[in-house]
Amino acid sequence: MADAYKNAHNAVRAERGPASLWQCCWCWGDAEHWSYDHADENERVDGRRRYSLDVNCYQPMCARDHRVYDRLHRENAPPERVEREMARARYRYPRETVAAMCERRANRLHTYVIGKRRTAPLTVIQTTIQRVMT
Ligand SMILES: [Zn+2]
Repeated sequence: MADAYKNAHNAVRAERGPASLWQCCWCWGDAEHWSYDHADENERVDGRRRYSLDVNCYQPMCARDHRVYDRLHRENAPPERVEREMARARYRYPRETVAAMCERRANRLHTYVIGKRRTAPLTVIQTTIQRVMT
């Protein structure tokens, strides 16, 4: 049997790439999951899981923040509480750590888009990726 929930997440991945190429929208670290943003008016429900068929209703998040985010939604937490948790996650990593993760993500993006490992300097890569993706 087709798993509609899984299919929806695969569609996001196909359209926007693996979440690991993105920055977590809370802590600015590496994302690991595509997280449903709970903002689709045509939201689908599958048991305890809520999801969307709209690939734009997903945000990249790390596993840790994704867990907290989904729990807050399950508990119907007020927006201020969601804001507070997000603000707390935002300062988890020092700036140098975020920069280092960003650099490694650029490498992964390059491998993903170009299909082979990066050898050129980062600025050249960014230009190449821009050219391929537009
Ligand atoms: Zn995070």
